[in-house]
Amino acid sequence: MGIPKILIVDDRPENLLALEGLLEQFNIDLIKANSGEEALAHTLDHEFALILLDVQMPGMDGYEVAELMRGNKKNRHIPIIFVTAASKASAHVFKGYESGAVDYLFKPLIPMVFQSKVGVFIELFQQKEALREKTQEFNRKLIELEELQQQLEETNEQLLMLSTTDGLTGLLNRRRFDEIFNAEWKRGIRAQRPLSLIMLDIDHFKAYNDTYGHQVGDDCLREVARTLSSIPLRELDRFARIGGEEFAIILPETDSKGAMQVAKRIIESIEILSKPHSSSPSSNHLTVSVGVATVIPNSEISSRKLMEVADDALYEAKHNGRNGCCSLALSEKVSALTAAPAFS
Ligand SMILES: [Mg+2]
Repeated sequence: MGIPKILIVDDRPENLLALEGLLEQFNIDLIKANSGEEALAHTLDHEFALILLDVQMPGMDGYEVAELMRGNKKNRHIPIIFVTAASKASAHVFKGYESGAVDYLFKPLIPMVFQSKVGVFIELFQQKEALREKTQEFNRKLIELEELQQQLEETNEQLLMLSTTDGLTGLLNRRRFDEIFNAEWKRGIRAQRPLSLIMLDIDHFKAYNDTYGHQVGDDCLREVARTLSSIPLRELDRFARIGGEEFAIILPETDSKGAMQVAKRIIESIEILSKPHSSSPSSNHLTVSVGVATVIPNSEISSRKLMEVADDALYEAKHNGRNGCCSLALSEKVSALTAAPAFS
């Protein structure tokens, strides 16, 4: 906080000297003017805590100076004390207040009264300054806080993305797949609507990696992911990469017929790619095998069972020569697997 500035205005040098003497005890920056014009010029360069203004001056008198100061937005709130040798007639006093005086002192000044008044204005100015600084600091902190909050939100979003997305393909990862799958399973139990699960696997992907290298293998996984993502599905159908070259799609409210249509579209879309796979024993280009499983979920069985059956269907598709799909309904498997351990 800077030292408060006080402007004293009087046309007579001896009066300025007297005022200076009375103000000696204060830690202030004192600026003097011997005319109204000079006083106005100083208000352009400084911000004053208080102006002590002589009323009787040749040329522009104290009232005119005060009125001009009040007319300026920057100076409107600077306190002015008129200092006059004129009579104490109330008409004079009122004129002073009209032109914006906050106080009125009569010559000869009584030092104690004068000094205590000035002291009050200095204190008020310092309080105002302190408040302004606090407000500025508060605003700075507020901006900092808003920036921090934004950073935090961005970090959280990135974290969420990282924790739910497969880094290589940008598809949902295994963790997020499990969450969604379990949620859809529960929803299926409540709604008693069919839930289908598709599992697919790139045929002879190990041979692909061995032939072209892992870098090209990764590119291939990305391309397959992009191709799968471009298949038009409903918003509630979710693609995920659940293993090295294994992908899955959750198809809520979809029966096996609907799921098979999606499976066929998957096989076609990979066929259309015509991506060379010179070391594939079953084709000269890249192909996928697709397993489909469908069930109306119920609380008697575990959601895991549907995944096992989809996996069985995928195995069947592989067994049948690959580049094809196979569908199994869970009910058939359940009855066929009665000897299996309890589904939990
Ligand atoms: Mg005078």
